[in-house]
Amino acid sequence: MIEHLLEHIDRLIQQRPVCKEVLESYRELASLMKKVEPEPQDIRFEDRLKDMKKEEGFPLFSREDIPVDLEASSELFAKFIEHLSNTEREDRDGLKKVLEKSKSDSGWTDSLFKTVLRKDDKALSKTGKEVDLDPATLSFLAQVALRPSLYALRDAASDRIDKEHWNYGYCPVCGSEPDMACFAKTGKRYLHCELCGQEWAYHRLKCPFCRNEEHKTLGYFEAEQEEGLRVDFCRQCMKYLKTVDKRVFEEAAPMELENLATIHLDMLANEHGFK
Ligand SMILES: [Zn+2]
Ligand SMILES: [Zn+2]
Repeated sequence: MIEHLLEHIDRLIQQRPVCKEVLESYRELASLMKKVEPEPQDIRFEDRLKDMKKEEGFPLFSREDIPVDLEASSELFAKFIEHLSNTEREDRDGLKKVLEKSKSDSGWTDSLFKTVLRKDDKALSKTGKEVDLDPATLSFLAQVALRPSLYALRDAASDRIDKEHWNYGYCPVCGSEPDMACFAKTGKRYLHCELCGQEWAYHRLKCPFCRNEEHKTLGYFEAEQEEGLRVDFCRQCMKYLKTVDKRVFEEAAPMELENLATIHLDMLANEHGFK
């Protein structure tokens, strides 16, 4: 699976040179993922599914109680930090501090993971200050370190949930918000979970963040000279979602890569005042 990911990264680097730097860094992290194998978690899916049916709109897990292999994720996180602190990155001193912290205090990384899973921005920025590292970098690296474990969970859960008829603006597996959207070959719109990577079908003209359906306040803009990529926005909540139209591309990359390969669209959206 990782090999497949690396091939996509190499192809994207050729196609979208503007994102070369980001993709090359991610390639290094993805190569390190090969070295860590998360343990399958013991999950009573049937009980969970019963609860899910009882209470309409409840995802299978919440971000706080999602069963991940913290040990394997910590090991991977340490590999990321060790590798990155030995590069010429400007923030390498902060990364070295993270390495020291995680080595001297075995609970430090677990607590970081929990902070990221809880989406506790206040605690995250405090942790960032402690080690002189941008909280966004810290959060990104923690999320990527959790990915092998989260994606294994998603794969185990995926066949058991009705992702074609979920119709909520948050993930049916973990309850997180989407970070990307796509149009499938059928023209159906799917949202992609920012945390576990699950995809689910959603209305074409509805904001997943505030459920706004008014055509007047929903819209999109396209990147210049880039067919098949666009930014959908909502003037009611001022949020946006990048969208990949899979009908245009011969081969679309996994959405977590498309997300990295479209950071220029994030900048464009921010310039327009969307967040
Ligand atoms: Zn999810
Ligand atoms: Zn909205």
